[in-house]
Amino acid sequence: MSLDPAPESPLTRLLHADRRAGVEHGALHKPIHPAATFGYRTAAELVAVFQGAQPGFVYARQGNPTGAALEAKLALLEGGRAAACFSTGMAAIAGVLLALLKAGDHVIASRHLFGNTRSLLQTLQGFGIAVDFVDTTDAAQVEAALQPATRLVFVETIANPATQVADLDGIGRLCAARGLLYVVDNTMTTPALLQARTVGAGLVVHSLTKGLSGHGDAMGGAVIDTGLFDWTRWPHIAEAYRKGDPANWGLQQIRKRGLRDFGATLRAEDAHRIATGLETLALRIAAINTTALGLARWLQQQPAVARVFYPGLEDHAQHARATALFGGPDGPRYGGLLSFELRPGLDPLAVLDRLRIVILSSHLSDNRTLVIPVAQTIFWELGPQRRAEMGIADGLLRLSVGLEPLADLQADWHQALQD
Ligand SMILES: *Cc1c(COP(=O)(O)O)cnc(C)c1O
Repeated sequence: MSLDPAPESPLTRLLHADRRAGVEHGALHKPIHPAATFGYRTAAELVAVFQGAQPGFVYARQGNPTGAALEAKLALLEGGRAAACFSTGMAAIAGVLLALLKAGDHVIASRHLFGNTRSLLQTLQGFGIAVDFVDTTDAAQVEAALQPATRLVFVETIANPATQVADLDGIGRLCAARGLLYVVDNTMTTPALLQARTVGAGLVVHSLTKGLSGHGDAMGGAVIDTGLFDWTRWPHIAEAYRKGDPANWGLQQIRKRGLRDFGATLRAEDAHRIATGLETLALRIAAINTTALGLARWLQQQPAVARVFYPGLEDHAQHARATALFGGPDGPRYGGLLSFELRPGLDPLAVLDRLRIVILSSHLSDNRTLVIPVAQTIFWELGPQRRAEMGIADGLLRLSVGLEPLADLQADWHQALQD
């Protein structure tokens, strides 16, 4: 009797992926391939690669070997079929929407979207694509917005800055029942907390600039096809891409249009840095999430703090949902983003100026803890009335927790919150 060894974990497969692919000199990393173009030994090979009959690289705008190695790792982490990488998260999102939608289509998107994604969807409204922004914490609101022309539902897992958790399961079931493409932006949770395939996502999008790379030294984006969407049901797959296994059609069109035609290509140097960041994803996210929960509980008890928004707190409106959906091997986790309102009367800018460790920055999910006053910066363009409707107080601070020990962060906030 032979005993099969236990299947390797995705982390082990990720850590050994480059070595096993057979890098020259026994190197443990996929090389950074700076080549803009690729040559072929025979004309037959050149033709086969161009026609997609043989794998290979054509021109680096459509991808390079370093990026392809990263794509394989991202597909592995999300449990998907395949991935395509882009120069930024916004390029990946634009790649999906522009490659797949046509004038006359209707999209339902979260009302609490990342501001730049919302702005992109508003641009698409000018091209004849109808968009409704609804409260995606409730799948019934998505259902109520359905129209005959609805093709796609776009949500984020945990919203920024107020940390609303979308009804990911409920919307996934609705999309499956109606044959809609379900696109989940999993940037805030990462596959360390959620494989978006498990809630029914057909496509998963990521900003690789955030937690997946972690070190704030590279920009990138990705689209992962989970294999759950039936592309024979998508009416806008061009004849040229309706070839071979239908499971590949969607990503093929996204790659050809989003990379080849729009040119939003991930550089090989950045692909390498992001791939290195992925190796410590699980460790970083576990540490950051533990610190974030500790800090959220501590902030709740500070007299200078009026209110804390964090899905790990029992008084968060979607705490039970977050507990059920997001986690690692040792229990639920709630992300590294939290927001809190200062007690009215405290000057948020004066508080920020007293910080010694926490960095004033607009970025998210860095190894260092970052903070930004929301009303005065990322939501400034909206004006006071829209901010009030959205519940964005002038004293709201958004905090992206890093790897510093909890005690250091508590000490820094303790001194900054004294007026
Ligand atoms: C940052 C972010 C993006 C955009 O990613 P970039 O890499 O900055 O272009 C998209 N979605 C979410 C949720 C983000 O936080």
